[in-house]
Amino acid sequence: MNHLENSDPELFHILEREAVREESTLELIASENFTSEAVMEMAGGVMTNKYAEGYPGKRYYGGCEVVDEAENMARDRLKKLFDADYVNVQPHSGSQANMAVFMTFLKPGDVIMGLDLAHGGHLTHGSMVNFSGQLYNSISYHVSKETGRVDFDEIKSLALEHKPKLIICGGSAYPRFIEFEDFREVADSVGAYLMADIAHPSGLVATGVHPSPMKYCDVITSTTHKTLRGPRGGIIMMGKDFENPWGKVAPKSGRVKMVSELIDATVMPGIQGGPLMHVIAAKAVAFGEALRPEFRGYTESVVKNAKAMADEFIKLGYDLVSGGTDTHVLLIDLTNKNITGKHAENILGKTGITLNKNMVPFDVKSPFVTSGIRVGTPAITTRGMGESEMRQVVKWMDKAMSDPENENLFSNILLEVNDLCSNFPIYKH
Ligand SMILES: *Cc1c(COP(=O)(O)O)cnc(C)c1O
Repeated sequence: MNHLENSDPELFHILEREAVREESTLELIASENFTSEAVMEMAGGVMTNKYAEGYPGKRYYGGCEVVDEAENMARDRLKKLFDADYVNVQPHSGSQANMAVFMTFLKPGDVIMGLDLAHGGHLTHGSMVNFSGQLYNSISYHVSKETGRVDFDEIKSLALEHKPKLIICGGSAYPRFIEFEDFREVADSVGAYLMADIAHPSGLVATGVHPSPMKYCDVITSTTHKTLRGPRGGIIMMGKDFENPWGKVAPKSGRVKMVSELIDATVMPGIQGGPLMHVIAAKAVAFGEALRPEFRGYTESVVKNAKAMADEFIKLGYDLVSGGTDTHVLLIDLTNKNITGKHAENILGKTGITLNKNMVPFDVKSPFVTSGIRVGTPAITTRGMGESEMRQVVKWMDKAMSDPENENLFSNILLEVNDLCSNFPIYKH
């Protein structure tokens, strides 16, 4: 395995330095995780060479009989994992999965409703800097100031006023369970379709640690690389396939097409060309891992660890949006601690703790500064860390944020962080 080292030492060195960075620091970015060696072996394998436009059994290229088996395994395992009737494993990313759903269910100019980015939503849920806000008429709903949870009074009245075609639930910095059932009620009251974007909690949904959207939502999208711990990519699912309501028929038979057929056609040829077969095969490996009982134990630990962190932060006087967490993510408002999200991200980086600044609901600071930070436990839980390590990490974070100009302190914490990390290796090289 010294090919890269011999042929391109410069890039080999960059790869090595990234491996050292990941091993020796604490990864608290809530959207990141560490895949298994098995997943990486598949993602780094020969299937990257294969063109396979189309779907298993219906490809535009020859020589697809082997990759067809991999994609069929990915589909079968994913259906089993979420109890889904239909899946598409080809989207290159979570954003592509969302784009495919929008292009199937909507026409440009149609009204969509998603959680405001600054309140925990995602760029693809209608932000004006994203295609979703530019191609569609985007109305944002919010969380309530008192509870930090989705404000269903507001969303009901916005829905009645704007009559959305599609309501999107889920987000990137929402610490609580997504309220699928309540969203279904709102969608039904105005005849809207309901999409769940479970990019963040999908690993927890797969094991029943988070409620499932399958019964309540018309269509579900996710990434595969966050709590699901697979390779970087996207997926689309339906709990139950149904006949398309737009009257599209198959040209020869005159049969009304199923929504699944329309989604497949939107993904390819609609918005993508050749699928990443190496990634699809690696998704199959990850879904296989997620079907094992150990993965349920992992996701339970992820949530236990997040709750332990929340408890420790609250003891130290920190203000958690919604007062805590049900999931893998905490959103912390630092306003009462007199430090910005940007400053906290910067100094914590010096202590070997990686996380991101984040807008908090009703933030008065810009997205480049922010009043908050987002903290997640998926990655450090994969390393095997538990509740006592969580409490220690929070204490280090508090020390640094309480004395934010003390460079000596940061260097001392960094040594302790490196030491802790060396006891929890990610990859046994
Ligand atoms: C991460 C995320 C996405 C997008 O995933 P990418 O793979 O980065 O495109 C979409 N929706 C939500 C809610 C996310 O958190």
